[in-house]
Amino acid sequence: MTSAVTLAELTTFGVGGPVRAYREAASVDEIRAALAGADQAGAPLVVLGGGSNVLAADRGLEALVLRVRARGIHAERDGDATRVAVEAGHGFDELVAFCVGAGLAGVECLSGIPGDVGAAPMQNVGAYGQEVASSIESVRVVDRRDGRAVELARDALGFGYRDSIFKREARDRYVVTSVAFRFAGGGASPAGYLDGSPAVYPELARALEAVDRPSLDDVRRTVLALRRRKSMVFDPSDANHRSAGSFFVNPTVTALAADHAAERAAELAPGERMPRFTTPQGDKLSAAWLIERAGLGKGTRRGAVGLSTNHTLALVNFGGATARELVAFAVEVRRRVRDAFGIALTPEPQLLGFTVDEVAPLFD
Ligand SMILES: Cc1cc2nc3c(=O)[nH]c(=O)nc-3n(C[C@H](O)[C@H](O)[C@H](O)COP(=O)(O)OP(=O)(O)OC[C@H]3O[C@@H](n4cnc5c(N)ncnc54)[C@H](O)[C@@H]3O)c2cc1C
Repeated sequence: MTSAVTLAELTTFGVGGPVRAYREAASVDEIRAALAGADQAGAPLVVLGGGSNVLAADRGLEALVLRVRARGIHAERDGDATRVAVEAGHGFDELVAFCVGAGLAGVECLSGIPGDVGAAPMQNVGAYGQEVASSIESVRVVDRRDGRAVELARDALGFGYRDSIFKREARDRYVVTSVAFRFAGGGASPAGYLDGSPAVYPELARALEAVDRPSLDDVRRTVLALRRRKSMVFDPSDANHRSAGSFFVNPTVTALAADHAAERAAELAPGERMPRFTTPQGDKLSAAWLIERAGLGKGTRRGAVGLSTNHTLALVNFGGATARELVAFAVEVRRRVRDAFGIALTPEPQLLGFTVDEVAPLFD
């Protein structure tokens, strides 16, 4: 038994077959009812937000797909700080716009990231040197094991680069119902954004050089303009819009592996310096740079799929593509980078409804 709702409609990639059932929940009770309904039907329950970080299989999903729709922002002063509690179904970029408008610094570089607030902690969304983990205080969830509503403090969430417990030990355990953020200060827009501000990526710092003492609003507008140029805001009028943003995370590797990649880079891209950043976890490399220097430039096409014409790291369904074609292309990109540099790229989006064998070549 399947419903008329397809994953193609529920995800920004625009691929994926029918789901068994689709429900929306606006309260904890409705979430519990959906969990009970799935149990009764003997079907798994899969939570989706805006579907902007998911690649779903052509065969669809024998599951009940649930979207949390509760919206709302509640801000209050708490001593020297401001606490902002946001319902999971609120648009993430709407939250960013709210904070920028209220003069709360900490998420402005995340402007333009699609999706819902409830999904933001999953992979600790980040951009231009800022990560949502730095502003999150706690996350309220319904525990799928017993239906209890609990609050998880930030320290229990195991945040890392595009990572959290929600992708590891707590995978599929919780339905996020709201996220609480904490911002220093009461909301006066800091003058001189770049003096004593968080470390932002050079690309953004350069773009802001032209602005005298940029405000949070200047930062937001600059980030949105940079992202738009790379097709990194979700805009249905953009030919590159059917994607999940970056398809691979930037690899963090041992110094030895980075040295080896740099030697290969010296042969493949003479005169260029391979981007390489030292982090406590290892050497972080640029996946986009590696893909391009492996010979796959922006706009590389394989039929209906390919690389965005504006951003090497985004795989795109240019219209009428299948999930199978996207996976095959992702495997090719990965193989090319590994052959050229010995680096194995890891996919960023969640893969839904595939068999282990179908996606094994993306993780070997
Ligand atoms: C154009 C574009 C640009 C992007 N740019 C960035 C970027 O700069 N930085 C970045 O980090 N990401 C980026 N992304 C990826 C994506 O937008 C984020 O990961 C976003 O947080 C996903 O939100 P979503 O609501 O669409 O989640 P979905 O894609 O629907 O779900 C993602 C995961 O979260 C889980 N989930 C969703 N909601 C809940 C909930 N309430 N409770 C429990 N689990 C839940 C789902 O089960 C799934 O595993 C981009 C995507 C696109 C299309």
